[in-house]
Amino acid sequence: MSRIVDEPYFTHSVYSALTTGIQVKCPKCHGAGVVTADEDNAYFRCLSCGHRMTQDRTVYRYDVHNQCKNCGRYYRVDIEDAAKQHFSVLHVACPYCGASMPGEVHKTAKAFSYASEIKDGKDPWFGLELWYLTSFQGKPVWALNREHLAYLIGYLSAGLRKKPSGGQKKTQADHLPTFMKTAKNRERIVKLLKKLQEG
Ligand SMILES: [Zn+2]
Ligand SMILES: [Zn+2]
Repeated sequence: MSRIVDEPYFTHSVYSALTTGIQVKCPKCHGAGVVTADEDNAYFRCLSCGHRMTQDRTVYRYDVHNQCKNCGRYYRVDIEDAAKQHFSVLHVACPYCGASMPGEVHKTAKAFSYASEIKDGKDPWFGLELWYLTSFQGKPVWALNREHLAYLIGYLSAGLRKKPSGGQKKTQADHLPTFMKTAKNRERIVKLLKKLQEG
């Protein structure tokens, strides 16, 4: 019986983009491209046509803060509507007395975008479709890159799975949805993944 020792929780995650990269489809030529990231930006580069994109990872907060001309209190109103965030001055209502007045829109860096989830088989920064993407009974089955794909095939086809030593509570396999780990589905999912590996 084949055995596999699982890997630590964050071995293959969107954080892998910081080092090994996430493989995605180029929006221009549909060839293979790579998404990587550093602290400031996320980057896309196509390995076939050379198309490149950069995305600022900083998340900004927009607000109007002011002293109310009617009641004299200081207030802050967050501007959530992306369409309004580009104005330099907006009319907002004082949250205390309801009086409306124009105020300067302030933009402050709030946080880095740690958009760390793969949703609908797309990378979190550019929304590009993953290169290793297929579906099983309507559910997306994907791998971030070749290393991750090899891990999934190894893990799911092993007869015996062990947690890594060191006593971590969570391991890499905890990222996997239950339908992928269910014994009755495993063999078919491994087949799908192997097809991705060959393609
Ligand atoms: Zn391309
Ligand atoms: Zn007021």
